[in-house]
Amino acid sequence: MKVLLAEDDPQIGGAVLRAFDRAGLAMQWVERGDEADVLLAGGGAFDAAVLDIGLPGRDGIDVLRRLRGRGDPLPVLLLTARDEVSDRVLGLDAGADDYLVKPFDMVELEARVRALLRRGRVAAQPAPARLGRLSLHADEAAPRLDEAPMELSPREAGVLSVLLRRAGRVAGKPAVLQELAAADPSAMDLSDAAVEVIVHRLRRKLEGSGAEIHTVRGFGYMLRARDE
Ligand code: CA
Repeated sequence: MKVLLAEDDPQIGGAVLRAFDRAGLAMQWVERGDEADVLLAGGGAFDAAVLDIGLPGRDGIDVLRRLRGRGDPLPVLLLTARDEVSDRVLGLDAGADDYLVKPFDMVELEARVRALLRRGRVAAQPAPARLGRLSLHADEAAPRLDEAPMELSPREAGVLSVLLRRAGRVAGKPAVLQELAAADPSAMDLSDAAVEVIVHRLRRKLEGSGAEIHTVRGFGYMLRARDE
């Protein structure tokens, strides 16, 4: 996790850098808004940014506007020197996730940035694949039924995951095996008959789920909605 800090006050910048270093958070500090803009436009290197509003080169709100203008959802906390409603409103309008008024407590800043990093991670997760009552979350290896774990063997979970990610489209047997093999290399050697047995078991477990595995003769399988 890496945080970009744009702050032209050397005392504040140095203090923030030291506090984050002690907290084990990597930080890059720049003193100019235009520098921050160039780094942020580079894309992907940061997990959050702390931008002072009053900066030379380009002010923090301008940097933020340009970031959002590029469609970048990076979590941003604005620092403002004055407790002025207008600055804060302007900042939140420009797409800031949080703001802190100077002088602030380092512990407070660290807590807010950690909250932004957590939120960023959650937001970065792709939406789960879904069909009817089935769902597959990005960080999970097995589909859920009504958000509850299903009773599936690892291979059943693997096959159903592949089919659910392609719900409504045909998954050829070689593609299914290839995706299974990413988690379990021995899956590459599964015979057609073995895959059919897994699918047969899955069909029974999917009864009443609103989804069914349809065989596309000569090609493979397709998970599709079932009218029940
Ligand atoms: Ca400043």
